[in-house]
Amino acid sequence: MSAIPFDQREGSIWFDGVLVPWKDATVHVLSHGLHYASCVFEGERAYGGAIFKSTEHSERLLQSGRLLDFEIPYTAAEIDAAKALVVKTNGKPDAYVRPVAWRGSEMMGVSAQNNKIHLAIASWEWPSYFDPAARLKGIRLDMADFRRPDPATIPSKAKASGLYMICTISKHKAERRGYADALMLDWRGHVAECTGANIFFVKDGVLHTPTADCFLDGITRRTVIELAKRRGIAVNERTILPEELSSFSECFICGTAAEVTPVGEIGPYRYTPAAITQTLMEDYSREVLPKAKAA
Ligand code: PMP
Repeated sequence: MSAIPFDQREGSIWFDGVLVPWKDATVHVLSHGLHYASCVFEGERAYGGAIFKSTEHSERLLQSGRLLDFEIPYTAAEIDAAKALVVKTNGKPDAYVRPVAWRGSEMMGVSAQNNKIHLAIASWEWPSYFDPAARLKGIRLDMADFRRPDPATIPSKAKASGLYMICTISKHKAERRGYADALMLDWRGHVAECTGANIFFVKDGVLHTPTADCFLDGITRRTVIELAKRRGIAVNERTILPEELSSFSECFICGTAAEVTPVGEIGPYRYTPAAITQTLMEDYSREVLPKAKAA
């Protein structure tokens, strides 16, 4: 991928209902979303020009806004159409798609009852990285210091920018220590998720994944569960304790960006990506293809 900064690229961005040149899609420094984290977003992928589970992402975006006490002034169908237009206009059929909604500048304080809700949508080239042989080595995960917060302290089901502050801190620390990402526990000390992806484990032919009761129930996570069930692989959504990390044979993370990515190591524990991880990687890569081309 090119190293051109994201504010200096070419293309079009959908901004409050119209396509504008990429470099003109700017916001004022006195925006509520920037100061008080009243900002929600999505991360989606287009494969062969079609956005995978576009409507589910649009609905989650609207729901994230509601959890932050704002209503994005577009319907899911309108957001779907805008995303498709952006992908088509930018001419990159294998792309990452980033809708973002935020409170504007009418009031600058904790209270922002009447601030305008803005919505922008960008897309940029991001081919699916699918080389099973290289990927099956597995990535290395560190243990994060921060924990996913108690749902009584923050709307933890929202894909809200404020929830990513501790993810960036944790990922930076992991990268400095030579790891690809960090595994976060939840506020009770149970295994939760990575900084931008959900996590699965394998033991004796069964998939185990933490119950998504205080972190994002990823669209990829739900897809993987469905794919596993289609294959007759049992899925056990449950509380997973850190003491159990030594008892699993395989581990992978999943998310829109990560797709299905095998894990070889979490701190002192080692995993060998094998048949179940490989099967789900391949099934996922087939599942995301536009239906007309999937055969
Ligand atoms: N957890 C976090 C913290 C994430 O940022 C993501 C990526 N959106 C996920 C899980 C996976 O979600 P999805 O499969 O919907 O991309």
